[in-house]
Amino acid sequence: MIRDPELINQLVDTIARFVRERLIPNEARLAEEDAVPPEILAEMKEMGLFGLSIPEEYGGLGLTMEEEALVAMEIGKTSPAFRSVFGTNNGIGAQGILIDGTDEQKAKYVPRLATGEILSSFCLTEPDSGSDAASLRTTAVRDGDHYILNGTKRYITNGPEADLFTVMARTDPNNKGAGGISAFIVEGNTLG
Ligand SMILES: Cc1cc2nc3c(=O)[nH]c(=O)nc-3n(C[C@H](O)[C@H](O)[C@H](O)COP(=O)(O)OP(=O)(O)OC[C@H]3O[C@@H](n4cnc5c(N)ncnc54)[C@H](O)[C@@H]3O)c2cc1C
Repeated sequence: MIRDPELINQLVDTIARFVRERLIPNEARLAEEDAVPPEILAEMKEMGLFGLSIPEEYGGLGLTMEEEALVAMEIGKTSPAFRSVFGTNNGIGAQGILIDGTDEQKAKYVPRLATGEILSSFCLTEPDSGSDAASLRTTAVRDGDHYILNGTKRYITNGPEADLFTVMARTDPNNKGAGGISAFIVEGNTLG
């Protein structure tokens, strides 16, 4: 659904210009340095790209699916690595917290995801668990008032840079399917 055609056209035009004038000319540098240049990252934050589809009440732009698709088609005209860096905050990095988090978790993390102050990551895939995600082996065992997580993840977008991780781990060893798995919010500075 397009809520305000004039407004979304303005946004899409702005992003198209950003892709043409700032991202495409920096593609070679991105590949060479294997990182999004810091000034580009700052411009992305300034433009609100980290909160495109995060609800307005948490400081995002609250784009609808159709509006986001129009934006994605413009961003798709340059290296996917540029989209990846802010796409995760909008999608798998924030959506789990928005859908199933407590009000306290939403208030604590989502506004900072929307501005790009923190980078997020979604940790489901493991060396022996890809398409069949419910077979994952990472465990989470309660120890007093906290959990101890053990396991290995791979192919995790933003893994080396993220400040906040949604980690899927098995909390019920007797349930080998999806029902035995829980999602944990793990801050990047957590010990271990
Ligand atoms: C760019 C990129 C970013 C990613 N980011 C993330 C991330 O942020 N977080 C995260 O958790 N994961 C991430 N992943 C991992 C992604 O979710 C997995 O790659 C995906 O789930 C597939 O798992 P796999 O690579 O182990 O392949 P496999 O599951 O081993 O599949 C290999 C091939 O076998 C086929 N296949 C599998 N099972 C069957 C079956 N039963 N019948 C027939 N064919 C089958 C598949 O279609 C595929 O072609 C990312 C992957 C990529 C490439």
